[in-house]
Amino acid sequence: MKLAIVGGGISGLSAGYFLSDIFDEIFIFESESEIGGKIKTLKFKNHLLELGPDSISSNFQVEKFIFELNLGNEIIFPNNSKINVLYNNRILTFEPEIVSLNPIFMLKSKDISIKSKINLLFEPFKKHFENDESLEKFITRRFGEEIFLKIGQPILANIYNADGKELSVLSAFENLKIIEKNHKSFFKFALLSKNKKKHLFFSMKSGLSRIVMKLEKEVVSKNVKILKGVRVLKISKINGKLRVITNLGYCEFDKVVLAIPSFNCYDILKDFGDICELFLKTKWTSTITSYLITKEHLKLDLGNGFLVSPLENLNITGCTIYSNKWPQKVSDEFTILRFFLKYKPFKEDEIKDIIISEMDKVFNIKLRNFEIINYRWENSFPQYPINHKENVKIIREFFKNEHIYFIGSSYDGIGISSCINQAFKLRNEIL
Ligand SMILES: Cc1cc2nc3c(=O)[nH]c(=O)nc-3n(C[C@H](O)[C@H](O)[C@H](O)COP(=O)(O)OP(=O)(O)OC[C@H]3O[C@@H](n4cnc5c(N)ncnc54)[C@H](O)[C@@H]3O)c2cc1C
Repeated sequence: MKLAIVGGGISGLSAGYFLSDIFDEIFIFESESEIGGKIKTLKFKNHLLELGPDSISSNFQVEKFIFELNLGNEIIFPNNSKINVLYNNRILTFEPEIVSLNPIFMLKSKDISIKSKINLLFEPFKKHFENDESLEKFITRRFGEEIFLKIGQPILANIYNADGKELSVLSAFENLKIIEKNHKSFFKFALLSKNKKKHLFFSMKSGLSRIVMKLEKEVVSKNVKILKGVRVLKISKINGKLRVITNLGYCEFDKVVLAIPSFNCYDILKDFGDICELFLKTKWTSTITSYLITKEHLKLDLGNGFLVSPLENLNITGCTIYSNKWPQKVSDEFTILRFFLKYKPFKEDEIKDIIISEMDKVFNIKLRNFEIINYRWENSFPQYPINHKENVKIIREFFKNEHIYFIGSSYDGIGISSCINQAFKLRNEIL
């Protein structure tokens, strides 16, 4: 049996790894000259700068995978820090547990109003709602509007670079719906889950690209062929085989895994008919990231950084104080800030000016001598619409009959750990 995997990001490479022993031949097609997709570690002078993701959320399956790759001793953890949100021209500070909407930490927070805290006391009595809904509706329904504005939008929706009013809670944060369904109350869940995880995220000492490089080595040693610089243009069914047409010619396969963004699937699979319209239901957003590297000491007492509520009239949407979060990746004496900006057709110099003026305006910080590295991430964050899960189910069921499978950030979660888990689960499905 011959398998084609389209896409050499973390999803495609992990699929190659998990499936190598059940196919006679596997080819991974990657359109770029390098594998890794959104995972890109840049070595700049003596610093390791993550241009895409900088960390992976910890869970059993992913940690096991990292240890299987013999990378366990290269894991590093970020300096723990509170979460800061710029809201109403003021910094609000929350404990990291707030990410899981732990209401005990909401009650303890000095940045949540008394009115909201009284409302929170009724949370255990709120009805549960089985169907999908937006992140905004979910949080407002259970915890009230203030919690959505101060936590839901700037912290949770920000992970997807999304508008929480549009984002499907069932697809983007399924665990929240599961807690609601199984425990009926977030208070009850918080009281039951006493085992506080020490670290929610981890990274690699020599950068996240280390994982894709090691994966490449592993899959190649298992006889998987990686074809770099080969773009898949079209897939069609001819005499029971799947013909994969690329910029360099075509080849036939028994099964195909697509591990690429859903809008690319639309172009490649158009021959299969109207079903492909479903790939376009997911819209994608873009962002600009900017590293600012300086030897100056900045008076910015904000732990690992801050997120910006969209109600603020700023172009900066967030900032990681990279040298605080990952001192292991930064040379001593340097301060490195990583900014996330709204995606607009800014010129390079404009980006610099925006950062200087907004940091001055909000924090009275004068940024002077620094180097800057910008990266534009176009169409990089999927915005799962309400009922996204239903769409994915229809797509997967239809194409399973054609021996075509789908994994990656377009489907069951944007995080690297979700991508690896999808590749792992595929093993049972594809057999
Ligand atoms: C700025 C940024 C920050 C992020 N931060 C985090 C974070 O801290 N933690 C986290 O867990 N996640 C984070 N994410 C999300 C995470 O990086 C991605 O969801 C994940 O890496 C996606 O992996 P993938 O393999 O599914 O897709 P991709 O990485 O997009 O890989 C797809 C690959 O397919 C190739 N390809 C596309 N079309 C074709 C074709 N027609 N033929 C052949 N090849 C093709 C592409 O070149 C690419 O290499 C971040 C994302 C961004 C953009």
